Amino acid sequence: MAAEGISFKCSVDVGKDISAAELANEYNALVLCMGATWPRDLPLKGRQLGGIHFAMEFLEGWQKKQAGPVPGHASKETPALTAKDKNVLIIGGGDTGCDCIATSLRQGAKSITTFEILPEPKKSRGQDNPWPQWPRVFRVDYGHEEVKVKFGNDPRKFSTLTKEFLDDGEGNVCGVNAVEVEWTRGPGGRWEMNEIPGSERVYKCELVLLAMGFLGPERYVASQLDLILDARSNIETAKDNIYQTPMENVFAAGDCRRGQSLVVWAISEGRQAARAVDVYLTGQSCLPGPGGVVYTH
Ligand SMILES: Cc1cc2nc3c(=O)[nH]c(=O)nc-3n(C[C@H](O)[C@H](O)[C@H](O)COP(=O)(O)OP(=O)(O)OC[C@H]3O[C@@H](n4cnc5c(N)ncnc54)[C@H](O)[C@@H]3O)c2cc1C
Repeated sequence: MAAEGISFKCSVDVGKDISAAELANEYNALVLCMGATWPRDLPLKGRQLGGIHFAMEFLEGWQKKQAGPVPGHASKETPALTAKDKNVLIIGGGDTGCDCIATSLRQGAKSITTFEILPEPKKSRGQDNPWPQWPRVFRVDYGHEEVKVKFGNDPRKFSTLTKEFLDDGEGNVCGVNAVEVEWTRGPGGRWEMNEIPGSERVYKCELVLLAMGFLGPERYVASQLDLILDARSNIETAKDNIYQTPMENVFAAGDCRRGQSLVVWAISEGRQAARAVDVYLTGQSCLPGPGGVVYTH
């Protein structure tokens, strides 16, 4: 890509080191591809304690070690934030949580537990979840399987709500208080969550990883450009030209536009955003359009 004439400027935090508005003025087109990295927090009593971290703080250190200073050669240094010899609690039962489970295992955690607030899915599709909807069924991912092999049990606790983080007396987390919840249909068919009396329990842990999803991109770039965020806190784009923002030379693609997703979508969005920019700049494009079914709004 560099040979094609693209210049890469690393270690530049747009919005802090350089104003996003300046970039939009200076360039004919600006494409935002900054991901959806704003993590959902859990502002409970004790949240300020040492040992409570967002999942990405933990995963990033390990990834950098694996990548190593020289490509292909993992660093021998252990990252400062490690699960070694700790009882690890991961809050959030999604894919990021699963990566935290597997990474904790590789680092030599003493025990690994993960909380999921939703109930355990059924083994097969429910009547309310017919094909072609995404099947909401019980799955065993690689992290769950590995923990079962090493410790003899699946690390997941479903229908579990965290109530507070407990202090070891020195400002570090030593456990959490949690309670089991029950999900029932309330009036109008809406799901309601109720705590089960008497199900409170303390889980011992010295490391808590928060993996409860992401709330769209960091806000400062969007606010410098006066861009609107959609109902899911992602960058809002036009209905008929889904990569163009209301600021006509500013485009958005990937997770910052569609929310946390998958690499295949990021690749597809990047290509289609390039096509949209081409059309914007030249009035036409010979770049390939999207394949498959094309929805019009
Ligand atoms: C823990 C985890 C595991 C995942 N595992 C998988 C998986 O197994 N398979 C899969 O398909 N997908 C996976 N995903 C999702 C996948 O990583 C994303 O969907 C994909 O990377 C999105 O690509 P993107 O280019 O939109 O954003 P990103 O890959 O997030 O890239 C955004 C880039 O913009 C940079 N940036 C952000 N703000 C600024 C700024 N202000 N100035 C300059 N640069 C900035 C960031 O540093 C980053 O390099 C995973 C996600 C997470 C969090």
